Amino acid sequence: MNDRPLLELRSVEIAYGRVAAVRGLSLEVQRGELVGLIGPNGAGKSTTLHAIMGAVPISAGEIIVDGVGVAGRAPEAIARSGVALVPEGRRVFASFSVEENLRLGLAARRNGKDEHALEEAYELFPVLRESRRRPAGVLSGGQQQQLAIARGLVAGPRLLLLDEPSLGLAPAVVDSVFETLARIREHGVTVLLVEQRAQRTVALADRSYVLVNGELRATLAPADAGDTDRLVAAYLA
Ligand code: ATP
Repeated sequence: MNDRPLLELRSVEIAYGRVAAVRGLSLEVQRGELVGLIGPNGAGKSTTLHAIMGAVPISAGEIIVDGVGVAGRAPEAIARSGVALVPEGRRVFASFSVEENLRLGLAARRNGKDEHALEEAYELFPVLRESRRRPAGVLSGGQQQQLAIARGLVAGPRLLLLDEPSLGLAPAVVDSVFETLARIREHGVTVLLVEQRAQRTVALADRSYVLVNGELRATLAPADAGDTDRLVAAYLA
């Protein structure tokens, strides 16, 4: 039994020039967990994900993936170690078919191509199987988000970072994105989820960290989702 965290941030500081974006952030994600990182606009959530991927340098602290410090490594090396980011904004290749988009994820696998991963993705996202030959650009916003997540998954990551998957989607579609996240978690995939939809994230995640102005303000459990006062207090603290 390996109980060391899959991801650990220790007192991480990140700045853009002189502007501090993240200050003294510590958090952890255990294998199989879905952990939320929530907070208002500009809190430093996306910056934190980009730093984990090696795309933004940290100025202090440590980022540890499965016991190994990764700060300072190139993004490709971090990706090869099994960390995948699904960025904000549903970036799919619009003129490629759904299946071609998924095959790009397959090509990024660490352990060689595995057609079974495609089949698994279609089981998780039946709508993608139905649309597999259609250009990704004709899918609805919610379906494109499913495709972006599925592409991240077929790469077979040990840790999947999701940046605001519900952003810009209609409320009913947001429901389907959160259902998708619940299914991914049942699949045993380890996820760090950045979201602005605080209540839903807190309800879903094993634990949610509240980031405000680059600082950790609270750590919330699913039971706190119904406690609006506690949620608001965490944001305003
Ligand atoms: P949002 O939900 O709006 O994306 P966020 O919590 O993800 O918010 P970040 O995007 O990480 O927040 O931004 C944190 C801070 O860093 C903000 O003050 C933002 O203006 C600043 N920032 C982000 N990216 C850059 C950049 N490339 N250059 C300079 N400052 C940046």
